[in-house]
Parts: sequence; structure tokens; C-alpha cells
Amino acid sequence: MTHSKAIALTFDFELFFKAAGSIEKCLVRPTSEILEILAPQRANCTFFIDTLFVLRLREVDSTAATRVENLIREIVKAGHRVEPHIHSHWVDALYRGSGDWDFSNLTHYRAQTLPPQTLLELFQKSCELLNGLAREGDPNYQVSCFRAGGWCIQPFAPLKDAFIRCGLKNDSSVAPGIQYSGIAHDIDFSSLSSGAPVLFLDDPLKQDSNGKFLEIPISTIRWSLAHGAMFRVSRRLSPQHYRGVGDGQGLSLKRKRSTFFFQKMLSLEDTPTWIYQSLFFQAKRDPLVVISHPKSWNQLAKKNLECILAQNTYRLETLHELGKRYAIF
Ligand SMILES: [Zn+2]
Repeated sequence: MTHSKAIALTFDFELFFKAAGSIEKCLVRPTSEILEILAPQRANCTFFIDTLFVLRLREVDSTAATRVENLIREIVKAGHRVEPHIHSHWVDALYRGSGDWDFSNLTHYRAQTLPPQTLLELFQKSCELLNGLAREGDPNYQVSCFRAGGWCIQPFAPLKDAFIRCGLKNDSSVAPGIQYSGIAHDIDFSSLSSGAPVLFLDDPLKQDSNGKFLEIPISTIRWSLAHGAMFRVSRRLSPQHYRGVGDGQGLSLKRKRSTFFFQKMLSLEDTPTWIYQSLFFQAKRDPLVVISHPKSWNQLAKKNLECILAQNTYRLETLHELGKRYAIF
């Protein structure tokens, strides 16, 4: 059967940012399970690696850093893409020992707050790290896609030079219709309503025929307070189905405006399976971009992943492949 439409599975490979959690439970165990499920299908996905975490880990615990680097090697060896996911507040994180980090300084949570030269160096070191690991198997490997830590891609201008110098052509940080605020976040993607890729130059929300970059948005679904209430009931009834394997604690986010209907990211770990079944039945959207996090891996995520692998409407593509198909630069 020919699959005319594409679905991209993306995994943000990182610890938590309030209480970090352990490498074993947030990364090793869930990633190994994800790779095991994907292997028989030869389904290739995109892993956004929190590169600054790996670089900081090298400074404080070389054994743990080697463990994480070996896991990244396994991801690449299995045929998946690894791309940079920069959480710049690692520059201010303090190591307390025994795998514990102090994230109380979030001054540089958004990479745009860093001096231009520091920002460029972080991008270059991040891309060198991933290219270096991936080139052990494929000498021509070149990272091509970026996802901003906490989706903080706005404003894009301070990141543009780093994109060009690092050979980054695609971004997947924008989620149409989402507006979040928090102690560190300030995200407004409300002006974008479609999930179609956007060729852009200075603003990933604005199509520009002279664009040098491609925004491949994370898919969002229309969600209501009633959906939320039903979902909470179902979580209360079978908590083991929804409990994440990760043992850390995340930063909280708030929707900027409180409305009955709102957009929610299409994820593996907290999107009901019937939403996927309905998207595959309708087969209207192309591409679909799913976001997931090994640290939040739970039984629902596993069920959704199996549902995606079992359907016949969409073929799995990496963001790198999608980028090559949509881009005209
Ligand atoms: Zn992240």
C-alpha cells in the first residue's frame, strides 16, 4: 500500500528541569523500550537531544556522560536521527553531586538572553557533539533540524546566524495556536493556525518566499475543558496507565488565556488513543508531527505508539526527510 501522507515521531531526550530525575529512569529505560518497539518496524524517528546536558555532564561525571553518549550512539545505530535541542539554562545549572542539579537560576532559560558569541558557541558545540557521535557510523552525517528548549524559538533573529553557521535548515519548535507562560516561558504561536510547513527567513510563523529555513510545526489538536475533565477522570480511574517512568519534576506552564476550547500538542504520553484513530480515519492532515519525551513515557504512550505503527494511512518519516521534501532552498 502507498502511504501518501507522513507522520513524524519526535522524542525530546532530556531530564526534568525542576528536579532533574535520574538518567536511568528518565532516559535509559524508556529510550531502550522505545527503540525495542520501533526496531521490528524499521520505523525511523527524530530524537532531539538536550546537548548542553551532555556537555555539562561531561564536566562533572564522565562515567554518566559516557553512558548517555552510548545511548545516543544506539539511537543513531538503529537508524534514527539525532538533532540538537538546546536548553540554555544548563549554563547556569549547578551540580550538587549524585546526579542532582540545582536549576534555581533560570535567567538564561531562553537562549536569546545569552550574548551572541556564547549562543553561537553553544550551538556549534551542540552540533559538533551530535555530528561527532553520528559520524562514527555515517561519515556524512549532518544535523539539520532544531527544536528550541521549552519551544522558545521567538524571537528568531538572535538564533539566525547560529542556524546558518551550523547548517541547520529546519526547525520544529512551533505548535500552532499554543500560548504558554510560566516562570521561564513566554510562547505565543496564536497567529499560526495551520500545521503546514512554513518556509521562513526571520519569523517561523511567517511564510517568506525568500526563506532559507523551514518550520515543520508540532501538530496540535482542538481540545476543550470537557475533554480535559474526561481525561482527568480516566487518569484517576487507572493511574498506572498514565504514570510516567521518569522520576523528576517539570516546570509548570500556564495557558495565557483561559478559553473553553484551546489547542493542545499532539503527544504520545497525554493524548487519548481515540484522537489518533480519528486522525488516521480522516487522513486530512499532512504532515502530522508528534512530540514525546522518554522521561514522560507511560503505558498510554506505548499504546499510542503501537496504534501509529499498526495504521496504514501515514508513513513514518524523520523531520530530516520531511525537510528535504518540503524545502525549495
Ligand atoms: Zn526540552
